[in-house]
This record gives sequence, C-alpha cells and structure tokens, in this order.
Amino acid sequence: FTAVILTIWIYRSILSPLNRLRKGMNRIKEGDLDYSVVSDTDDEIGQLCEDFEEMRLRLKELINSRLAYEEEIRELISNISHDLKTPLTAIKGYAEGLIDGVADTEQKQEKYLKTIMTKANDISILVDELSFYARIDCNTVPYSFKEINLSDYFNDCIEELNFDFEIKNIELIFENETDPDTRVIADAEQLKRVINNIIGNSIKYIDKKKGRIRIHLQDIGSFVQIEIEDNGIGIHESDLPYIFDRFYRADASRNSRKGGSGLGLAISKKIIEDHSGRIWAESEPGKGTKIYFTLKKYEKDRQLQINQSGNA
Ligand code: ATP
Ligand code: MG
Repeated sequence: FTAVILTIWIYRSILSPLNRLRKGMNRIKEGDLDYSVVSDTDDEIGQLCEDFEEMRLRLKELINSRLAYEEEIRELISNISHDLKTPLTAIKGYAEGLIDGVADTEQKQEKYLKTIMTKANDISILVDELSFYARIDCNTVPYSFKEINLSDYFNDCIEELNFDFEIKNIELIFENETDPDTRVIADAEQLKRVINNIIGNSIKYIDKKKGRIRIHLQDIGSFVQIEIEDNGIGIHESDLPYIFDRFYRADASRNSRKGGSGLGLAISKKIIEDHSGRIWAESEPGKGTKIYFTLKKYEKDRQLQINQSGNA
C-alpha cells in the first residue's frame, strides 16, 4: 500500500511536471514558444517550472523583437531601393536621350543635363540622410553645444528661408514672445537641421493655394517652446503617434510621390532629445499640422550657482 502511495506521489509531484517540462523543451526546440508550463506546487519542481516559464517568455520577447527588427530592415531596404530607383531611372533615361541624339537642340540638351543634375542631387541627399541617421543612432555625432541667442538665431533662419518662401508663394509668420535676451544651449548646426526638417515637411505637405507657415516662440519657465504650424494636408489621428518613428511615412503610397525616406522627424527627435528637449505634434487632417519642440534655456544665475557649487 505504501509503495502504491509513494509511486502515485512521485508520479504526480515529480514525473508529471518533469514530463511537461520535457514536452515544453521539445516544443521550444521546434520553434513553438507558446507552450506554457505551469506548476501549482511551491517546491523545487514548481520553482523549476517557474524558471522555465520565465525563460520561455524572455526568449519569446527576444525572438519577437528580432523579427520586428528584421522586418524593419527589410522595409528599409525596400524603401531605399524604391527611393533610389526612381531618380536613377530618370538619370538613365535622360542620359540615353543625350547619347541617342533625342535632345537635338542646345536648349533640350541643357534641360536634360539639368534634370540629371537634380536627380543626382536627390540621390545624394537620401544617401547623406541615411548615413547621418546611422551615425546619430549609434551616438557617434559629436555635438558642439554653445549658448545661442534665440531671437538672433531665428531671425537669421527666417531671413534664409524668406527667399525660398516667396518663390513658393508661402506666407511666413514669425511671432516671438520670448525676451530678446533669451539664450539657449544648443548645437547651432544640428538645430538648423531640425528646423529645416520640420519646415521642409510643411512645404512638402502644403496643398492650399496660399501656403502659410507660422513660427511661434514662447517662454515656458526653464525651457522655450518652439511651435511650427502649417496649413497643409494634416496627419491622420492614427498616423500621428508614429511620425517620429524611423522610416515611418503616413500613407506610403501617397508619400512615394512626395519623396522622402521617413527619417527627417526621427533625426529631429533624436537631436532634440540629445538637447534634453521634447518634440511632439498635433494635427487636424485637411487643416494643418503643428510641430512643437522645447529647448533648455541658458540661465546665467543658475549656471553661476552650479559652477560655484561645483567649485566649492
Ligand atoms: P524625409 O524627411 O526623410 O525626407 P518624410 O518627410 O516622409 O521623409 P518625416 O519627415 O520623418 O519623413 O515625416 C514622417 C511622415 O509624417 C511623413 O511621411 C508625412 O506623412 C508626415 N508628416 C510630417 N510632417 C507633416 C506635415 N507638416 N504635414 C503633413 N504630414 C506630415
Ligand atoms: Mg521630412
């Protein structure tokens, strides 16, 4: 009788869970990570089952993130090849036209050469953007942080942009509510990249006859908030949370006509976060988009205090 009881006990508390564990291991070996092994006992075997379950979940998580990463890379390669193929096909076509003598007048030849130049430029921009993203993603872009006068900086930016805006029939409104002496700590070159990316998008996605872009600077305590608003096509609510993700383009088919790799805002986000700021977007489809970002103010008194406490 004792032997029977002992056998049942050994079977229920040791052999059965061990069998389940073995089955689980085999499932994992075959690539099925959904087989869960749970034990209702609290002894060593129960602990082993718990550890096994933890390992399974961790493994599943790792494999899923690996699959997502591979999918992203696949998508990236297909995006890049698509984006490179379009200008390359045009370059090939126009070069053939020149060689075959289709462009028989000087005017035509000049037009063909100019198109080849523009398309080659597009490729060059794309390659530059990709290599910059790769570098900034691994934190190998050296920043040169300096204190910058915010108003002077934006006035220079606006002056540079004005000519371009006039040609494109876009009205530029600049509202500066900050103190003229406000300074921020930033890398002027990288900050320019952010502004150009955001304004470049606004220009690209403006669909109204009379385009309008408004830049609004505002003081919000120890930060300044920069708002760039356009009256373009806007972004659908379901796309809004993803526009700062790398390679994300809202409605890929529509955007393929507009060009772009979907890296602009991802780069901008990384740069702003490396400046200890925040970037976000609000949008109303059909009406327009607002992109906001913040920059840390340079506060002389605070900086002095920090330096003094540092020296002490
Ligand atoms: P890239 O900037 O690399 O040339 P892109 O402009 O497509 O390509 P992002 O700048 O990262 O990529 O923008 C991501 C997506 O967000 C865009 O494809 C577009 O769908 C949407 N988007 C961004 N800004 C605007 C805007 N101002 N108006 C409408 N849609 C926008
Ligand atoms: Mg862009």
